[in-house]
Amino acid sequence: MTANGPVPGASPAPSPGGPPKAAAPAGPPKVPPKLNPVRVEIHETPVDERITTFDEVLHAYSKEDAVLEAKRCIQCRRPWCVEACPISQDAREYIRLIADNDFDGAARVTVSENPLATSLCKVCYHYCEDACVVKKKGVPVAIRHLKRAAMELGNGDLTYVASKPKSQRVAIVGAGPAGIMAAWELGIRGYGVTVFEQEPLYGGLMQTIPAYRMTDADVEEDRARLRNLDVTFVKNRKIGSEFSPEALLAEGYQAVFLSVGTSVHRSLGVEGENLPGVVPALELLKRVNQGETVTFGRQIVVIGGGDVAMDSIRSALRLSRGGHVSLYYRRSREEMPADPEEVHGAMAEGIEFVFQKAPVKILGKNHAEGVVFQSIELGPPDAGGRRSPVPVPGSEVTVPCDTVVVAVGQKADLAGFGDSLDLKITNQGWPEGKGPGFTTGIPGVFAAGGRSVVYAMGTATDAAVAIDTYLAEKRGEAPSPRPDPFGGASTWHLPAGYTTPIRI
Ligand SMILES: Cc1cc2nc3c(=O)[nH]c(=O)nc-3n(C[C@H](O)[C@H](O)[C@H](O)COP(=O)(O)OP(=O)(O)OC[C@H]3O[C@@H](n4cnc5c(N)ncnc54)[C@H](O)[C@@H]3O)c2cc1C
Ligand code: SF4
Repeated sequence: MTANGPVPGASPAPSPGGPPKAAAPAGPPKVPPKLNPVRVEIHETPVDERITTFDEVLHAYSKEDAVLEAKRCIQCRRPWCVEACPISQDAREYIRLIADNDFDGAARVTVSENPLATSLCKVCYHYCEDACVVKKKGVPVAIRHLKRAAMELGNGDLTYVASKPKSQRVAIVGAGPAGIMAAWELGIRGYGVTVFEQEPLYGGLMQTIPAYRMTDADVEEDRARLRNLDVTFVKNRKIGSEFSPEALLAEGYQAVFLSVGTSVHRSLGVEGENLPGVVPALELLKRVNQGETVTFGRQIVVIGGGDVAMDSIRSALRLSRGGHVSLYYRRSREEMPADPEEVHGAMAEGIEFVFQKAPVKILGKNHAEGVVFQSIELGPPDAGGRRSPVPVPGSEVTVPCDTVVVAVGQKADLAGFGDSLDLKITNQGWPEGKGPGFTTGIPGVFAAGGRSVVYAMGTATDAAVAIDTYLAEKRGEAPSPRPDPFGGASTWHLPAGYTTPIRI
């Protein structure tokens, strides 16, 4: 993430990543005497209606409600929300425009620095809201819902324009959030970009997010804004041993960005895992999203505690035709990594949560019939700061079921990528280059991505800035700051009072 702003109170300065951000409002922000701690709620489909369909659960604000909610923002002089965002999205500015009833302006500001705005306004983990000062007194400003109001009530049908074309071409491997962000950053700077994707659809792991939260159409709406850039998307093309990053360089690409993510299911490693009726979560979610008919049992056990597990239990409930769905997690509720909003949604839908139980064995002759779980006590914190699970001998219980969904994480598929790349695997399993700007062991090859959509995009911005610097050096020129992506004369600048983004 670009970390380069002026100190509070100093005047804005361009960052290497670019840009003017949307100009900050002139003069000191108006600070109302009191913070309004109460959020304007958005409409949610009632539980009994939503658990039988994959229709969207959360709905957009009306214009009136969005304006009311935007007026809760006190336009902090130092915008904590912007600092907390991995892509430094100028939330303060689009909120100010909404409060002024300028929804088109708010959409333009949002899209001017966020090429996945239509997707993110539905699924972003809104690190900005955790940092919002209003949280000190009550519920933070609904920054993500306001982004959605900007995108749905304003005109977000905008088209990016490239600055002066450059003769160099960059290959990007993987069309997930990191790949699309890097394609945008390089495309608007005038580079030619080809994005190779092994799957028939674009969006990476966003393709597995259930339709009750976001759809493929959201990704396509975002991708469409890139249509006038020299960015070519090639699907069903796997890069690896037969067609390696080195081969891409030899073919004439001047740089390669690997954003291959974590596309492979992580298994439990227990007996019985290969029985019919035991389903990897990613496979399940992908099949449902691609419209396949998935026949499910009525007694479903989901194992895991992250966001993939939450999407699995809520999807399983919708597929079970009134069956029973329970989630088993080996640590406590407090240790569960899933987004609290998703946990709340699942609990409201009546899903049973069982904590501190770990699977030992899956039972069944020709099909899953039950899972043996062992109780867990929580020991001292591990290297990651979470308390380590300690099995309690003799505490085994059998839970009868006909379907087991395994949602205990994913890992990268690095088959065919040589050791000379010298990649690092992050705690969450993402491969990235170890050097500054995510450089790898091969000159001209960069690698990044990450544990949430916006986090992955932030890493891609850093990598794209490093790629631009690398290619500019080859041309004997200075790197280009991020230009106005709509072809205007201005360049992006940081909002007044902006400091350094917090890496979460
Ligand atoms: C079920 C689920 C729900 C989630 N919900 C949320 C959420 O609500 N909010 C949020 O912020 N994040 C969420 N995430 C996490 C988020 O989707 C990821 O953090 C993000 O997609 C990572 O982006 P990436 O570009 O680094 O990698 P990925 O999204 O994994 O994209 C990598 C792409 O590279 C392709 N690829 C891999 N190897 C090759 C190869 N050799 N050749 C060509 N192409 C290749 C893959 O097919 C994939 O399309 C969720 C993830 C899952 C699985
Ligand atoms: S931190 Fe909250 S109150 Fe301050 S500018 Fe951002 S959204 Fe507004």
